[in-house]
Amino acid sequence: MVEVAFIGLGAMGLAMAKNIIKGGHRVVGFDKSDEAMQHHIENGGVTASSPAEAVRDCSIAVTMLPVGDVVKSVLFGPTGIIEGIAPNSLLIDMSTIHPFENDEIRKDVIARGMRMLDAPVGRTSEQAQTGNLLIMAGGAAADIEEARPILECMGDLIIDCGGPGMGSRMKIINNLMTTVLNVLTAEVLTLAESTGLDRDLAIKVMSGTAAGLGHMSTTYPAKVLKGDLSPAFMIDLAKKDLNIAIKMSEQFGVPLVLARNAETVYSDAQAAGRGAEDWTALYAMMRKKYLV
Ligand code: NAD
Repeated sequence: MVEVAFIGLGAMGLAMAKNIIKGGHRVVGFDKSDEAMQHHIENGGVTASSPAEAVRDCSIAVTMLPVGDVVKSVLFGPTGIIEGIAPNSLLIDMSTIHPFENDEIRKDVIARGMRMLDAPVGRTSEQAQTGNLLIMAGGAAADIEEARPILECMGDLIIDCGGPGMGSRMKIINNLMTTVLNVLTAEVLTLAESTGLDRDLAIKVMSGTAAGLGHMSTTYPAKVLKGDLSPAFMIDLAKKDLNIAIKMSEQFGVPLVLARNAETVYSDAQAAGRGAEDWTALYAMMRKKYLV
């Protein structure tokens, strides 16, 4: 049994703390909301009157808070974690915050003699309830191993993202993909319905193509990730289809915000002489422009 302090018992944290308790550990919780603290007690946890008090007998402290400024105040503010925690303890920040804020916090935490993991989570509060989160861990490999029994109470996939701050970076990259795809999905389904298509049929069709399966698991591994830019589907043809969709959306009065921006990227590729390359060459173009 490990004694774990858990600060931030909200939609995610309350369920995550409950799963640590279920794993046979003692969880000392703190939240600024009395109601959250009450729920934590009902879940079998114990509570403290401040973060400093919560960590008093714990060698691991977890934070699951809304934003970076709150993480900083819970750590370094009056009656914060730093006031009560034993030297060399392990802080696991699971909140989603800017990676640079995470780097800054890590520097201060280490300067005060503690160790730190950034371990933000993928999926939603539903998987927080069932203990099936995906955890993106950043930090020393030995610290991730030490934390693993606690992380495994909360998630079923723990991924070492490759060093300090990398969990935090991975989380933001992952959410960039999902948040933008959400807009695209909403736009595409709205246009589909406005053309008279049956929505369920449209979903069925797109679930069988790169539209729904995703480029990362279909076209990219088959082409650009192998360095093969010979056209399975040409940029010129992809752009032609995109232009038809934009024109059609105007006819149906459904503006496509993302599609218009995408069109400029395809035009850039054509201007760079890549029109006859595979459509995944957009990635090769961007790497060449911004990385190499
Ligand atoms: P939430 O707002 O439900 O919970 C945050 C908790 O922190 C609240 O209970 C609040 O009272 C508490 N809190 C705020 N300031 C505090 C302070 N100074 N001292 C003590 N407690 C304080 O948010 P959430 O949905 O649980 O999200 C937490 C983090 O997890 C966020 O960074 C969020 O982006 C991330 N996240 C959320 C989800 C999701 O599906 N909700 C999924 C993945 C990641």
